[in-house]
Amino acid sequence: MANLAFKLLPPRHAERWHAFKGDVSYAIALERFGPRLARRILWRVETTEKVVALSFDDGPHPHHTPEILNLLDEHQIPATFFLVGRHVRQHPVLARHIARGMHEIGNHTLSHRMLPFLRDERIVHEIRHTGEIIREVTGRTAPLFRPPMGLFSKRVVDLVEQCGCKVVIGDVYPRDPQRPGREKIYRRVINRVQPGSIIILHDGGNTRHVDRSQTVWAVRQIVRYLRQENYRFVTISNLASLNGKL
Ligand SMILES: [Zn+2]
Repeated sequence: MANLAFKLLPPRHAERWHAFKGDVSYAIALERFGPRLARRILWRVETTEKVVALSFDDGPHPHHTPEILNLLDEHQIPATFFLVGRHVRQHPVLARHIARGMHEIGNHTLSHRMLPFLRDERIVHEIRHTGEIIREVTGRTAPLFRPPMGLFSKRVVDLVEQCGCKVVIGDVYPRDPQRPGREKIYRRVINRVQPGSIIILHDGGNTRHVDRSQTVWAVRQIVRYLRQENYRFVTISNLASLNGKL
């Protein structure tokens, strides 16, 4: 349906529609829900220090997660991986590999559904069960939670907090799952990044057939650029602790 609408729209609108599809959750949600709710959600950190947090969603993925891990290892860069519970179950060795490094593990639900459309019990199950799987497989707790597709509501935030987690989105999202081209992913990130940014990227996807090669290429360039600009990379928890946000 979305694709049909996209084809029927004239080019200028088509472009806007495309942007809207990607940004709807991450950019608009905070403004829509108002300052009181926005304070409960971590999306960036106010700081003048040149620090950023890279984050990767939807993994572990058998092909792309190792590529990203190798790249991060090579540059000694910590990142935060928001893992999908059922992917952790399918690829426990990879999840342990992430945990062995200097990386942080976050919770990205069990089955990557749009949470605002689920009943309370189902949402709690998606969060709690994923937390248990991550703990069993990696020995780590995962108190940071990123809602799939960045979609949330006040009810979702309440339930996430009841499960003992903190909602984390980000302020730099190049919409890499749409595969806009590797240079575009790179440019969108470097145009928007600032001290205290949380960058959202994807090492995995809903199926094992997703192609994240554009993201992998862009990450290498992003790292090179930010290093040249004297940025330091930290996990999201470390970023948040800079000004007591956690
Ligand atoms: Zn996701």
